[in-house]
Amino acid sequence: MTAEAQAAPGAWPAPGARPAPARDLKERLLARIASEGPISAAVYMSEALYDERAGYYRVMDPIGAGADFITAPEISQMFGELVGLWAVQTWMDLGSPAQFEIIELGPGRGTMLADALRAARLRPPFLSGARVTLLESSPALQAVQAQTLASAPCPVAWMDRLPAGGRPMILLANEFLDCLPVRQFVKREGVWRERLVGLDPTDRGRLAFLLSPDPLASRDLALVPPSLREAPEGALVETRPGLEALIETLSDRFKTAPGRALFIDYGSAASEIGDTVQALKAHEKVDPLAFPGEADLTARVDFAELARLAHAAGLEVAGPVGQGSWLKALGIEHRAAVLRQAHPDMKATIARQFHRLTDEAQMGALFKALAISAPGLPTAAGF
Ligand code: SAH
Repeated sequence: MTAEAQAAPGAWPAPGARPAPARDLKERLLARIASEGPISAAVYMSEALYDERAGYYRVMDPIGAGADFITAPEISQMFGELVGLWAVQTWMDLGSPAQFEIIELGPGRGTMLADALRAARLRPPFLSGARVTLLESSPALQAVQAQTLASAPCPVAWMDRLPAGGRPMILLANEFLDCLPVRQFVKREGVWRERLVGLDPTDRGRLAFLLSPDPLASRDLALVPPSLREAPEGALVETRPGLEALIETLSDRFKTAPGRALFIDYGSAASEIGDTVQALKAHEKVDPLAFPGEADLTARVDFAELARLAHAAGLEVAGPVGQGSWLKALGIEHRAAVLRQAHPDMKATIARQFHRLTDEAQMGALFKALAISAPGLPTAAGF
Protein backbone atom coordinates (compact mmCIF):
# COMPACT_ATOMS: atom_id res chain seq x y z
CA MET A 1 0.00 0.00 0.00
CA THR A 2 1.32 3.48 -0.73
CA ALA A 3 2.08 6.07 1.92
CA GLU A 4 -0.81 8.15 0.64
CA ALA A 5 -3.33 5.34 0.95
CA GLN A 6 -2.14 4.31 4.39
CA ALA A 7 -1.95 7.85 5.62
CA ALA A 8 -5.58 8.48 4.81
CA PRO A 9 -7.94 7.71 7.67
CA GLY A 10 -9.50 4.43 6.75
CA ALA A 11 -8.55 0.89 5.83
CA TRP A 12 -8.28 -0.82 9.20
CA PRO A 13 -9.83 -4.00 10.53
CA ALA A 14 -13.52 -4.06 11.37
CA PRO A 15 -14.45 -3.97 15.08
CA GLY A 16 -13.80 -7.33 16.65
CA ALA A 17 -11.19 -8.41 14.08
CA ARG A 18 -8.30 -8.38 16.52
CA PRO A 19 -4.93 -9.16 14.97
CA ALA A 20 -2.45 -11.12 17.08
CA PRO A 21 0.23 -8.70 18.33
CA ALA A 22 3.67 -9.28 16.87
CA ARG A 23 7.02 -7.84 17.95
CA ASP A 24 8.96 -8.46 14.77
CA LEU A 25 8.23 -5.19 13.00
CA LYS A 26 11.76 -3.81 13.22
CA GLU A 27 13.20 -7.04 11.77
CA ARG A 28 10.65 -6.99 8.97
CA LEU A 29 11.47 -3.36 8.15
CA LEU A 30 15.21 -4.05 8.15
CA ALA A 31 14.70 -7.04 5.81
CA ARG A 32 12.40 -5.10 3.51
CA ILE A 33 14.80 -2.15 3.24
CA ALA A 34 17.77 -4.49 2.70
CA SER A 35 16.01 -6.07 -0.26
CA GLU A 36 13.96 -3.19 -1.73
CA GLY A 37 15.87 -0.08 -0.65
CA PRO A 38 15.02 2.86 1.63
CA ILE A 39 11.42 3.93 2.32
CA SER A 40 10.06 7.46 2.85
CA ALA A 41 9.63 8.81 6.38
CA ALA A 42 5.85 8.66 5.76
CA VAL A 43 5.94 4.98 4.83
CA TYR A 44 8.05 4.30 7.92
CA MET A 45 5.49 6.12 10.08
CA SER A 46 2.62 4.24 8.42
CA GLU A 47 4.25 0.90 9.06
CA ALA A 48 5.20 1.76 12.65
CA LEU A 49 1.69 3.00 13.46
CA TYR A 50 -0.62 0.88 11.32
CA ASP A 51 1.08 -2.42 10.47
CA GLU A 52 -1.71 -5.07 10.71
CA ARG A 53 0.06 -7.18 13.30
CA ALA A 54 2.45 -4.86 15.08
CA GLY A 55 1.52 -1.21 14.37
CA TYR A 56 1.36 1.01 17.43
CA TYR A 57 -2.24 2.06 16.75
CA ARG A 58 -3.30 -1.54 16.07
CA VAL A 59 -1.99 -3.33 19.10
CA MET A 60 -1.36 -0.81 21.86
CA ASP A 61 -3.63 0.85 24.43
CA PRO A 62 -1.43 3.92 24.75
CA ILE A 63 -3.35 6.63 26.59
CA GLY A 64 -3.33 7.45 30.29
CA ALA A 65 -1.14 8.09 33.29
CA GLY A 66 0.47 4.64 33.23
CA ALA A 67 0.74 4.45 29.42
CA ASP A 68 2.74 6.37 26.81
CA PHE A 69 1.01 9.76 26.81
CA ILE A 70 -1.93 11.68 28.26
CA THR A 71 -4.44 13.82 26.40
CA ALA A 72 -6.68 16.78 27.28
CA PRO A 73 -9.88 14.76 27.83
CA GLU A 74 -7.97 12.47 30.19
CA ILE A 75 -6.70 15.48 32.15
CA SER A 76 -10.12 16.88 32.97
CA GLN A 77 -13.81 16.29 32.29
CA MET A 78 -14.07 20.04 31.58
CA PHE A 79 -12.47 19.53 28.17
CA GLY A 80 -15.06 17.05 26.87
CA GLU A 81 -17.92 18.96 28.45
CA LEU A 82 -16.98 22.14 26.58
CA VAL A 83 -16.59 20.16 23.36
CA GLY A 84 -20.16 18.95 24.08
CA LEU A 85 -21.44 22.53 24.42
CA TRP A 86 -19.57 23.43 21.23
CA ALA A 87 -21.31 20.52 19.48
CA VAL A 88 -24.75 21.67 20.71
CA GLN A 89 -24.05 25.19 19.42
CA THR A 90 -22.85 23.74 16.12
CA TRP A 91 -26.03 21.67 15.86
CA MET A 92 -28.05 24.89 16.24
CA ASP A 93 -25.82 26.56 13.63
CA LEU A 94 -26.73 23.65 11.31
CA GLY A 95 -30.43 24.48 11.82
CA SER A 96 -31.09 21.95 14.63
CA PRO A 97 -31.53 18.99 12.25
CA ALA A 98 -33.91 16.30 13.55
CA GLN A 99 -31.39 13.63 12.61
CA PHE A 100 -27.66 14.10 12.37
CA GLU A 101 -24.35 12.37 12.89
CA ILE A 102 -21.57 12.93 15.38
CA ILE A 103 -18.39 11.40 14.00
CA GLU A 104 -15.22 11.17 16.04
CA LEU A 105 -11.83 10.36 14.52
CA GLY A 106 -9.46 8.57 16.89
CA PRO A 107 -11.62 8.61 20.04
CA GLY A 108 -8.95 7.10 22.32
CA ARG A 109 -10.64 5.86 25.48
CA GLY A 110 -13.98 7.47 24.54
CA THR A 111 -13.67 9.90 27.44
CA MET A 112 -14.16 13.12 25.48
CA LEU A 113 -17.35 11.89 23.87
CA ALA A 114 -18.78 10.54 27.13
CA ASP A 115 -18.21 13.93 28.79
CA ALA A 116 -19.55 15.76 25.72
CA LEU A 117 -22.76 13.74 25.59
CA ARG A 118 -23.31 14.25 29.32
CA ALA A 119 -22.99 18.02 28.90
CA ALA A 120 -25.36 17.88 25.91
CA ARG A 121 -28.20 16.58 28.10
CA LEU A 122 -29.28 20.21 28.45
CA ARG A 123 -30.68 19.93 24.88
CA PRO A 124 -32.78 16.74 24.70
CA PRO A 125 -33.60 17.15 20.95
CA PHE A 126 -29.83 17.16 20.26
CA LEU A 127 -29.45 13.78 21.93
CA SER A 128 -32.58 12.25 20.44
CA GLY A 129 -31.47 13.20 16.92
CA ALA A 130 -27.81 12.18 17.27
CA ARG A 131 -26.19 9.04 15.94
CA VAL A 132 -22.55 8.55 16.88
CA THR A 133 -19.96 6.95 14.62
CA LEU A 134 -16.42 6.28 15.77
CA LEU A 135 -13.39 5.69 13.58
CA GLU A 136 -10.70 3.88 15.48
CA SER A 137 -7.77 1.86 14.14
CA SER A 138 -6.98 0.04 17.38
CA PRO A 139 -9.21 -2.92 18.31
CA ALA A 140 -8.01 -2.59 21.92
CA LEU A 141 -9.19 1.03 22.04
CA GLN A 142 -12.46 0.12 20.29
CA ALA A 143 -13.14 -2.22 23.19
CA VAL A 144 -12.35 0.52 25.73
CA GLN A 145 -14.62 2.95 23.84
CA ALA A 146 -17.47 0.41 23.86
CA GLN A 147 -17.14 0.19 27.62
CA THR A 148 -16.87 3.94 28.23
CA LEU A 149 -19.90 4.60 26.02
CA ALA A 150 -21.99 1.60 27.12
CA SER A 151 -24.70 3.85 28.54
CA ALA A 152 -24.45 6.62 25.94
CA PRO A 153 -27.76 8.46 25.44
CA CYS A 154 -27.71 7.82 21.66
CA PRO A 155 -26.71 4.96 19.33
CA VAL A 156 -22.97 4.40 18.90
CA ALA A 157 -21.36 2.45 16.04
CA TRP A 158 -17.88 1.93 14.61
CA MET A 159 -16.92 2.39 11.00
CA ASP A 160 -13.71 1.84 9.13
CA ARG A 161 -13.81 4.94 6.99
CA LEU A 162 -15.42 8.35 6.84
CA PRO A 163 -18.40 8.07 4.48
CA ALA A 164 -18.43 10.70 1.71
CA GLY A 165 -22.18 11.27 2.13
CA GLY A 166 -24.83 11.08 4.84
CA ARG A 167 -26.72 13.18 7.33
CA PRO A 168 -25.66 16.60 8.59
CA MET A 169 -22.46 15.99 10.50
CA ILE A 170 -20.49 17.25 13.45
CA LEU A 171 -17.00 15.82 13.30
CA LEU A 172 -14.65 15.82 16.27
CA ALA A 173 -10.94 14.99 16.29
CA ASN A 174 -8.65 15.59 19.24
CA GLU A 175 -5.02 14.59 18.78
CA PHE A 176 -5.86 12.60 15.66
CA LEU A 177 -4.15 14.55 12.88
CA ASP A 178 -0.78 14.39 14.63
CA CYS A 179 -0.79 10.60 14.11
CA LEU A 180 -1.15 10.85 10.34
CA PRO A 181 2.23 10.20 8.70
CA VAL A 182 4.32 13.05 7.30
CA ARG A 183 6.70 13.13 4.37
CA GLN A 184 9.87 15.11 4.95
CA PHE A 185 11.78 17.09 2.33
CA VAL A 186 15.24 18.56 2.81
CA LYS A 187 16.95 21.24 0.73
CA ARG A 188 20.50 20.10 -0.04
CA GLU A 189 22.76 21.87 -2.52
CA GLY A 190 19.84 24.05 -3.46
CA VAL A 191 17.64 21.06 -4.43
CA TRP A 192 14.69 19.60 -2.48
CA ARG A 193 15.10 15.87 -1.78
CA GLU A 194 12.98 13.38 0.17
CA ARG A 195 14.17 12.20 3.58
CA LEU A 196 14.20 8.43 3.68
CA VAL A 197 14.63 5.66 6.22
CA GLY A 198 17.36 3.19 5.29
CA LEU A 199 20.00 1.02 6.94
CA ASP A 200 22.76 2.61 9.00
CA PRO A 201 25.88 2.16 6.84
CA THR A 202 28.02 1.46 9.93
CA ASP A 203 25.55 -1.01 11.47
CA ARG A 204 23.12 -2.65 9.06
CA GLY A 205 21.03 -3.89 11.98
CA ARG A 206 19.93 -0.30 12.68
CA LEU A 207 17.59 2.06 10.88
CA ALA A 208 18.90 5.51 9.95
CA PHE A 209 17.66 8.61 8.15
CA LEU A 210 19.24 9.48 4.82
CA LEU A 211 18.44 11.66 1.82
CA SER A 212 17.24 10.49 -1.55
CA PRO A 213 19.91 11.06 -4.21
CA ASP A 214 17.14 12.14 -6.61
CA PRO A 215 15.58 15.60 -6.61
CA LEU A 216 11.87 15.74 -5.75
CA ALA A 217 9.55 15.11 -8.68
CA SER A 218 7.79 18.31 -9.72
CA ARG A 219 4.39 17.09 -8.48
CA ASP A 220 5.97 16.59 -5.02
CA LEU A 221 7.66 19.97 -5.16
CA ALA A 222 4.17 21.46 -5.20
CA LEU A 223 3.72 20.00 -1.70
CA VAL A 224 6.44 22.22 -0.22
CA PRO A 225 4.46 25.01 1.51
CA PRO A 226 4.61 28.10 -0.76
CA SER A 227 5.99 30.27 2.06
CA LEU A 228 8.94 27.87 2.53
CA ARG A 229 10.05 27.20 -1.05
CA GLU A 230 12.86 29.71 -0.71
CA ALA A 231 14.01 28.28 2.63
CA PRO A 232 17.79 28.22 3.22
CA GLU A 233 20.15 25.32 2.53
CA GLY A 234 19.59 22.42 4.94
CA ALA A 235 15.94 23.33 5.68
CA LEU A 236 13.53 20.45 6.36
CA VAL A 237 9.82 20.75 5.63
CA GLU A 238 7.00 18.32 6.37
CA THR A 239 3.78 17.62 4.53
CA ARG A 240 0.92 15.34 5.53
CA PRO A 241 -0.60 13.44 2.60
CA GLY A 242 -3.57 12.24 4.69
CA LEU A 243 -4.93 15.78 5.06
CA GLU A 244 -5.78 16.03 1.40
CA ALA A 245 -7.89 12.86 1.49
CA LEU A 246 -9.64 14.07 4.61
CA ILE A 247 -10.51 17.48 3.14
CA GLU A 248 -11.74 15.82 -0.05
CA THR A 249 -14.12 13.65 1.97
CA LEU A 250 -15.39 16.61 3.99
CA SER A 251 -15.93 18.60 0.85
CA ASP A 252 -17.86 15.71 -0.77
CA ARG A 253 -20.00 15.27 2.34
CA PHE A 254 -20.80 18.95 2.58
CA LYS A 255 -22.18 18.83 -0.98
CA THR A 256 -25.07 16.64 0.22
CA ALA A 257 -25.54 17.83 3.81
CA PRO A 258 -24.06 20.64 5.88
CA GLY A 259 -21.60 20.03 8.65
CA ARG A 260 -18.63 21.23 10.62
CA ALA A 261 -15.42 19.58 11.75
CA LEU A 262 -13.40 20.48 14.83
CA PHE A 263 -9.69 19.65 14.95
CA ILE A 264 -7.68 20.14 18.11
CA ASP A 265 -4.03 19.24 18.11
CA TYR A 266 -0.53 20.37 18.86
CA GLY A 267 1.03 22.32 16.06
CA SER A 268 1.86 25.61 14.44
CA ALA A 269 -0.38 28.32 12.99
CA ALA A 270 2.06 28.95 10.11
CA SER A 271 4.07 26.45 8.07
CA GLU A 272 7.52 26.18 9.64
CA ILE A 273 10.77 24.45 8.87
CA GLY A 274 12.16 21.71 11.09
CA ASP A 275 11.89 18.00 11.85
CA THR A 276 8.96 17.59 14.27
CA VAL A 277 8.58 13.80 14.25
CA GLN A 278 8.71 12.60 17.82
CA ALA A 279 8.43 9.24 19.50
CA LEU A 280 7.04 8.82 23.02
CA LYS A 281 7.34 5.66 25.07
CA ALA A 282 6.21 5.67 28.70
CA HIS A 283 6.04 9.51 28.66
CA GLU A 284 9.72 9.73 27.55
CA LYS A 285 11.02 10.95 24.19
CA VAL A 286 12.89 8.19 22.38
CA ASP A 287 14.64 7.84 19.00
CA PRO A 288 11.80 7.64 16.38
CA LEU A 289 13.59 4.81 14.56
CA ALA A 290 14.43 2.70 17.62
CA PHE A 291 11.08 1.14 18.54
CA PRO A 292 8.76 0.88 15.51
CA GLY A 293 5.35 -0.29 16.76
CA GLU A 294 6.26 0.19 20.41
CA ALA A 295 6.42 3.98 20.67
CA ASP A 296 3.85 6.62 19.76
CA LEU A 297 5.02 8.50 16.68
CA THR A 298 3.56 11.91 15.92
CA ALA A 299 4.48 15.14 14.19
CA ARG A 300 3.23 18.67 14.73
CA VAL A 301 0.14 19.60 12.79
CA ASP A 302 0.71 22.39 10.29
CA PHE A 303 -2.60 24.23 10.68
CA ALA A 304 -1.69 26.50 7.77
CA GLU A 305 -1.48 23.43 5.50
CA LEU A 306 -4.88 22.22 6.75
CA ALA A 307 -6.45 25.67 6.26
CA ARG A 308 -4.91 26.03 2.79
CA LEU A 309 -6.37 22.70 1.66
CA ALA A 310 -9.79 23.54 3.13
CA HIS A 311 -9.88 26.97 1.45
CA ALA A 312 -8.81 25.44 -1.85
CA ALA A 313 -11.78 23.05 -1.59
CA GLY A 314 -14.14 26.01 -1.04
CA LEU A 315 -14.75 25.27 2.65
CA GLU A 316 -14.83 27.80 5.47
CA VAL A 317 -12.13 27.87 8.12
CA ALA A 318 -12.18 29.34 11.62
CA GLY A 319 -8.94 29.51 13.60
CA PRO A 320 -6.53 28.23 14.49
CA VAL A 321 -6.77 29.68 17.98
CA GLY A 322 -4.90 28.49 21.06
CA GLN A 323 -6.65 25.78 23.05
CA GLY A 324 -6.53 28.07 26.09
CA SER A 325 -8.40 30.93 24.49
CA TRP A 326 -10.81 28.56 22.75
CA LEU A 327 -11.73 26.89 26.06
CA LYS A 328 -12.03 30.28 27.75
CA ALA A 329 -14.32 31.58 25.00
CA LEU A 330 -16.52 28.54 25.62
CA GLY A 331 -16.67 29.22 29.36
CA ILE A 332 -14.09 26.98 31.02
CA GLU A 333 -13.56 29.55 33.81
CA HIS A 334 -17.22 29.36 34.73
CA ARG A 335 -17.24 25.57 34.49
CA ALA A 336 -14.19 25.32 36.77
CA ALA A 337 -15.89 27.60 39.32
CA VAL A 338 -19.04 25.45 39.33
CA LEU A 339 -16.99 22.28 39.77
CA ARG A 340 -14.98 23.83 42.61
CA GLN A 341 -18.18 24.77 44.38
CA ALA A 342 -19.62 21.28 43.97
CA HIS A 343 -16.38 19.58 45.09
CA PRO A 344 -14.59 21.84 47.58
CA ASP A 345 -12.21 18.98 48.43
CA MET A 346 -11.04 18.95 44.79
CA LYS A 347 -10.23 22.66 44.57
CA ALA A 348 -6.49 22.22 44.09
CA THR A 349 -6.94 19.41 41.55
CA ILE A 350 -9.41 21.42 39.48
CA ALA A 351 -7.08 24.43 39.54
CA ARG A 352 -4.21 22.24 38.36
CA GLN A 353 -6.28 20.74 35.54
CA PHE A 354 -7.49 24.18 34.46
CA HIS A 355 -3.90 25.44 34.41
CA ARG A 356 -2.68 22.46 32.40
CA LEU A 357 -5.38 22.81 29.75
CA THR A 358 -5.26 26.58 29.34
CA ASP A 359 -1.92 28.04 30.43
CA GLU A 360 0.25 29.33 27.59
CA ALA A 361 3.27 27.47 28.95
CA GLN A 362 1.26 24.22 29.18
CA MET A 363 -1.29 23.12 26.55
CA GLY A 364 -2.95 26.52 26.09
CA ALA A 365 -0.90 27.86 23.19
CA LEU A 366 0.92 24.91 21.58
CA PHE A 367 -2.40 23.09 21.22
CA LYS A 368 -4.77 24.79 18.82
CA ALA A 369 -8.35 24.47 17.61
CA LEU A 370 -9.48 24.88 14.02
CA ALA A 371 -12.97 24.41 12.59
CA ILE A 372 -13.81 23.59 8.97
CA SER A 373 -17.38 24.21 7.89
CA ALA A 374 -19.64 23.83 4.92
CA PRO A 375 -20.02 27.25 3.28
CA GLY A 376 -22.68 29.61 4.59
CA LEU A 377 -22.87 28.67 8.27
CA PRO A 378 -22.53 31.17 11.16
CA THR A 379 -19.02 31.49 12.64
CA ALA A 380 -18.08 28.50 14.78
CA ALA A 381 -18.31 28.97 18.56
CA GLY A 382 -15.11 29.80 20.40
CA PHE A 383 -13.28 31.36 17.44
N1 SAH B 1 -8.80 11.59 20.88
C1 SAH B 1 -8.27 10.78 21.95
C2 SAH B 1 -7.10 9.91 21.52
C3 SAH B 1 -5.92 10.58 20.90
S1 SAH B 1 -4.65 9.42 20.47
C4 SAH B 1 -7.91 11.63 23.14
O1 SAH B 1 -7.86 12.84 22.98
O2 SAH B 1 -7.66 11.10 24.21
C5 SAH B 1 -4.98 9.07 18.78
C6 SAH B 1 -6.19 8.22 18.57
O3 SAH B 1 -6.39 8.05 17.18
C7 SAH B 1 -6.11 6.82 19.14
O4 SAH B 1 -7.40 6.44 19.51
C8 SAH B 1 -5.62 6.03 17.93
O5 SAH B 1 -5.80 4.67 18.07
C9 SAH B 1 -6.43 6.66 16.85
N2 SAH B 1 -5.90 6.60 15.49
C10 SAH B 1 -4.65 6.93 15.09
N3 SAH B 1 -4.54 6.86 13.76
C11 SAH B 1 -5.76 6.48 13.30
C12 SAH B 1 -6.28 6.26 12.00
N4 SAH B 1 -5.55 6.41 10.89
N5 SAH B 1 -7.56 5.91 11.92
C13 SAH B 1 -8.34 5.77 13.02
N6 SAH B 1 -7.90 5.97 14.27
C14 SAH B 1 -6.62 6.32 14.41
